[in-house]
Amino acid sequence: MGKLNLAVYWASSCGGCDIAIVELGEHLLELAQVADIVFWPAATDFKYDDVEAMEDGAIDVTLFNGSIRTEEDEHIARLLRRKSKVLVAFGSCSMEGCIPSLSNIKGIDYALNRAMFENPSTVNPEKVLPQRRFGMPEGELILPGLCNQVRTLAQVVPVDYKVPGCPPHYEQVWKVMTAIIENKLPSRGGLLGVDSRTVCDQCPRKREGKIRVERFFRPHEIVPDPDRCLLEQGILCAGPATHAGCGALCIEANMPCRGCYGPPDGVVDQGAALLGAIVASFEGKSDAEIRQVLSTIVDPLGTFYRFSFADSFLQQLKANPEEAGRICASQADGSEEEVEQ
Ligand code: SF4
Ligand code: SF4
Ligand code: SF4
Repeated sequence: MGKLNLAVYWASSCGGCDIAIVELGEHLLELAQVADIVFWPAATDFKYDDVEAMEDGAIDVTLFNGSIRTEEDEHIARLLRRKSKVLVAFGSCSMEGCIPSLSNIKGIDYALNRAMFENPSTVNPEKVLPQRRFGMPEGELILPGLCNQVRTLAQVVPVDYKVPGCPPHYEQVWKVMTAIIENKLPSRGGLLGVDSRTVCDQCPRKREGKIRVERFFRPHEIVPDPDRCLLEQGILCAGPATHAGCGALCIEANMPCRGCYGPPDGVVDQGAALLGAIVASFEGKSDAEIRQVLSTIVDPLGTFYRFSFADSFLQQLKANPEEAGRICASQADGSEEEVEQ
């Protein structure tokens, strides 16, 4: 059998998912013996034209990280879908929108306003927004337009597998690579590199299954008992509603799970599942008392949906799929045909 053709792409990404692949370290040498990297913009000097020139289906597997935030992201997602036999949504941004999709709650204009005008570290007295086209003596500069909403990869093109995590843990990444190399990928549609439990199931802390606290705390506000469940001490931990796969990394560091591995098998909406698990664990409190305790959670929407907002029921209620992909009005200062769709 010849070598595999692998591609890695970052759409609207922080780069952490690419680092997770680099963290494979010496395994990369093993990978190089059986696979050619045919496209990986974060690490190698391939151009989009190189991908355009490939036959359809020429790439065996593409690991696609980052969310779909710009028209360029969408264009490359469609291109790589066409060129790849297997397309993997790699990491939380690509799989479920991750933290960037929290900007969908208030919308792109609000996000631009905050980022460009109100951010204390931004000096922009003339209130300049990044425009899509800008004339320079050397020629016209073109920025990809921002879409109205952050979308997951699967909201734009069909996806074969998903790899959760922000970023995926490197041991999990190697499991995924091994499955690819050994041609042992499971039937399409599922998660790769995880086990079927929750973070709570992997957590070594003592858990009674009962919450008795009068309020919730942010992690810096108390020093928790290192042996007891953080949630039961009033630190909001997403372990009950988060897929296992990281080995309960944050818990080991005495920090709560924030939910980056997404919902467990069979759960569609991670935020609703977490809220349900918490409410069901309160002991000896009336509905009004439970509401009072829950009201002490800072930024509940951002906390319960920190990683999964784009894939949540709330997003589905809010979003119009056609509008979500349109270029936001604040930026639409040029012809939309410029970047091929
Ligand atoms: S999933 Fe996390 S690490 Fe990966 S690109 Fe998104 S923010 Fe970065
Ligand atoms: S809620 Fe958090 S701290 Fe408690 S058992 Fe689950 S993962 Fe561990
Ligand atoms: S403990 Fe939770 S937040 Fe931390 S890496 Fe694991 S899944 Fe992600």
